[in-house]
Amino acid sequence: MTFSSLGLAAPLLQALETLGYETPTPIQAQAIPAVLAGRDLMAAAQTGTGKTAGFALPILQRLSESEDKVASNSIRVLVLVPTRELAEQVHASFRQYGEHLAVSTYAAYGGVSINPQMMRLRRGVDVLVATPGRLIDLFTQNAIKFKQVQTLVLDEADRMLDLGFANELDTLFAALPKKRQTLLFSATFSDEIRSMAKGRLRDPLSIEVAPRNSTVKAIKQWVVPVDKKRKTELFLFMRKDRKWGQVLVFVKTRRGVDELVATLLAKKIKADAIHGDKPQPARLRALESFKAGEVQILVATDVAARGLDIDDLPQVVNYDLPIVAEDYIHRIGRTGRAGATGQAISLVCADEAPLLAAIETLIKQTLSREEEPGFEPDHRVPLTGASAIAAKKPKKPKVVGGRGGKGVPGNWVGFDEGGGKRTGARSTGGARPAAKGSPKAGKPRGR
Ligand code: AMP
Repeated sequence: MTFSSLGLAAPLLQALETLGYETPTPIQAQAIPAVLAGRDLMAAAQTGTGKTAGFALPILQRLSESEDKVASNSIRVLVLVPTRELAEQVHASFRQYGEHLAVSTYAAYGGVSINPQMMRLRRGVDVLVATPGRLIDLFTQNAIKFKQVQTLVLDEADRMLDLGFANELDTLFAALPKKRQTLLFSATFSDEIRSMAKGRLRDPLSIEVAPRNSTVKAIKQWVVPVDKKRKTELFLFMRKDRKWGQVLVFVKTRRGVDELVATLLAKKIKADAIHGDKPQPARLRALESFKAGEVQILVATDVAARGLDIDDLPQVVNYDLPIVAEDYIHRIGRTGRAGATGQAISLVCADEAPLLAAIETLIKQTLSREEEPGFEPDHRVPLTGASAIAAKKPKKPKVVGGRGGKGVPGNWVGFDEGGGKRTGARSTGGARPAAKGSPKAGKPRGR
């Protein structure tokens, strides 16, 4: 199959040739004709498999074929994304693909001055890529009208439709024209989000390129059990021992990110951070320096989990596991992109076992565990997934005495002693495990 057989016009084919795209990826092969035909879509494909071109190419073609001109303060296509970095990246893709077309594009997001955005919108924009908060600000200040919107794209759609953006999305859906094309793209979709989304779409075509919520096979994933207090030491050891090059490291909290970066810098390791408390220009600078290879270790919260496309990134490390299981798929999806291989290593301590169990339930695989000699944890990480089920198989009654007669393997202490399921693993509604004190439960995620 070729891009031209999908019905794309010459100016787009020319741009793709410059970029070295020879064959459409499976999601592109299915999505491009459907979008060109004007269908609504709910499209799921694994991380790094070309979703952006799957919607951007046909959108650009439809815009270039239409005679309509965009009015001032108006837009014709709205692409909503969850983070500012992703807004920049998706906008850059539209610009590359549309290089030989007279289609105007722009990105608007928070954390930077709103005035230049208001000025630019005065002339009207064909494709606006935006984060929801800033878009609402522009809308309430009358800087943008939605009357001309013909297509709405929710990139990372499950994240856009979850609780964190609920208010903004309700306002937007109320303001957008009812007659429009709506396209949802993501690597993960829970059943809850799917049924919620259906109400927003017109006879949607559902495209699923790989099994639901699956991780990319080319990413080798494993878990290293370790005591919480030794995670930094273990990370430094593995980095040196395995001669890791660039690494993207995910840490749960903003403070945790800053602490790890401070430790790395003190050891003269080139490191930088991305999290919600950093000014936007510093966030973008950190990402650019990492992409340019000037920074060795980029430490981030989940603000960097989704969508970011970093060429040849070999290594992702989960210093902490994510609280929302789907974020694991997105985090590790920063490596192994566009057919490359990658490694994803999770440093897991005992009290993260419920989070690990939730991830394993979601991705339908038990992650292998490889203890690092010298770092074997004192607090053993309770068994999860298939190993836990195997360990639960009824055994011959033991003579009371031995191990205290509880009939429970020693490493289950504090996890599932009662034999009941306490993993809290859910495959719907964001697969939030019932971890105590989850800071994100039911709240906007403040990215
Ligand atoms: P995405 O999933 O949209 O972030 O794309 C992942 C990476 O694959 C990006 O670096 C794209 O430039 C690249 N890519 C997308 N489609 C193709 C294609 N058909 N051929 C080669 N590379 C592609």
